[in-house]
Amino acid sequence: MSTKTIINPSTNTKLNTITYTTIENCEIMIQNAKEAQRLWKAQTLKSRSQIIYNYRNKLIENKERLATVIHQENGKTINEAIAEVDKSIEVCEFACSLPQLCSGETQEVSRGVYCQERLDPQGVVAQITPFNFPMMVAHWTLPISICLGNAVLLKPSEKVPLTMIECLALWKNAGLPKDVLQLVHGEKEIVQTLCTHNDIKAVSFVGSTPIAKEVYKLSSQHLKPALCLGGAKNHLIALPDCNIEMTAKDVVASMSGCAGQRCMAASLLIVVGENEPLITRLTEVASELKTGCDIGAIINESSQKRIEEYITNAETQGATIRLDGRQNRPEKGSFVGPTILDHVSPDMPAATDEIFGPILSIIRVKTVEEAIQIENQSRYGNGASVYTQNGADADFIAEKLEAGMVGINIGVPVPREPFAFGGWHDSKFGVGDITGKSSIHFWTKTKKITKKWSATNKSNWMS
Ligand code: NAD
Repeated sequence: MSTKTIINPSTNTKLNTITYTTIENCEIMIQNAKEAQRLWKAQTLKSRSQIIYNYRNKLIENKERLATVIHQENGKTINEAIAEVDKSIEVCEFACSLPQLCSGETQEVSRGVYCQERLDPQGVVAQITPFNFPMMVAHWTLPISICLGNAVLLKPSEKVPLTMIECLALWKNAGLPKDVLQLVHGEKEIVQTLCTHNDIKAVSFVGSTPIAKEVYKLSSQHLKPALCLGGAKNHLIALPDCNIEMTAKDVVASMSGCAGQRCMAASLLIVVGENEPLITRLTEVASELKTGCDIGAIINESSQKRIEEYITNAETQGATIRLDGRQNRPEKGSFVGPTILDHVSPDMPAATDEIFGPILSIIRVKTVEEAIQIENQSRYGNGASVYTQNGADADFIAEKLEAGMVGINIGVPVPREPFAFGGWHDSKFGVGDITGKSSIHFWTKTKKITKKWSATNKSNWMS
């Protein structure tokens, strides 16, 4: 049996060890899930939502403890970890409203003949999650899919499995029947087992674009619905009339939060016109952040090295380093401080690749059209924002941006429940979004029941 050592990236010391799930055990877990799901779906939606309600309360009671585990295994700050628990609670609250949203439709379609639509769960489903949000990403899908009557095999990132082990205990305390939620641990092999198994009826995935594509293709080849969210490169456009103080603070918060390891982080700032005061101010704001205190750790040493290489290469290729995150950081642990690269050109890797660190690349352009063109050329399409005080300009640009989530004077334009989360292009493969009302259809199948009880009603050609 293989095991994996879990490392605290803030200290690079060992936290724990987990054992990977074998293929044989995974098979047993799938069969147990099938039986558990048969009984779980037999409960009403209202009664299932009560368990989600209990679980939401457990999350509130255990918020600090969960945030500590997230902080330890992922390296993000405690405040960022608390925000992650808060977002998980919000999705649970949305799931508690499903009995109100899923009442189903009925209509008398011919005299005495009724059509009824009901939503049935998919069955046993698999969910695969990334390292950067050990709790929140799993909670985009768990409360909704479980409330709708599915049983779930969740595979957390092998880098951060401890938070979900804590959450599983809380689901049990909340009254979730055994085997409705199970955790599997491992990497490629176990994910492939889930994507190809006949008894897994739907797959959701959140992670990098190359793996999202692989998982999407494999699941689709095995004829199951799949929704796979990938990486990102988010463009923020600052127009000449933007509010300098608000824009500077907002852009820095977006690029540095979670040490830039989030799919909605600001990665590229396109400054339209000469706006030296904005660039100077945001450099000042970023330089006030203390790495290791205001900015958490990078997930591991190899990611830290990869990010540092982007900084070195950008400088070699002609960018100016306005702020260098390779300096003034803690000696222990994996850290990169906030970094600002100015005079980046649109074809440099710093402008096109997902770096996944607290690095902001600045491209200077003369016109709004150039700014839009650069954003539109990106292979990704998760988030994008525009900073301006002119509503007409904001509306014009928001319409032109090729991203699933657009902000106007917002650095991290994540929609809150009941609005759905999901990008476009190489940031998402599959139909629909992962949260909000859109997700209901992914985790269910619609059954259409047509019925007639009266033997005397005159029927028409359709009945
Ligand atoms: P990753 O793709 O390396 O891993 C994600 C999951 O896939 C993990 O559970 C991992 O064990 C599994 N995995 C790894 N290799 C695999 C393979 N060959 N076959 C099958 N499964 C495999 O991603 P990560 O490094 O954990 O997370 C960071 C990435 O996730 C970034 O690209 C980020 O943008 C993305 N992300 C996207 C969103 C979004 O909403 N679009 C949200 C969070 C993170």
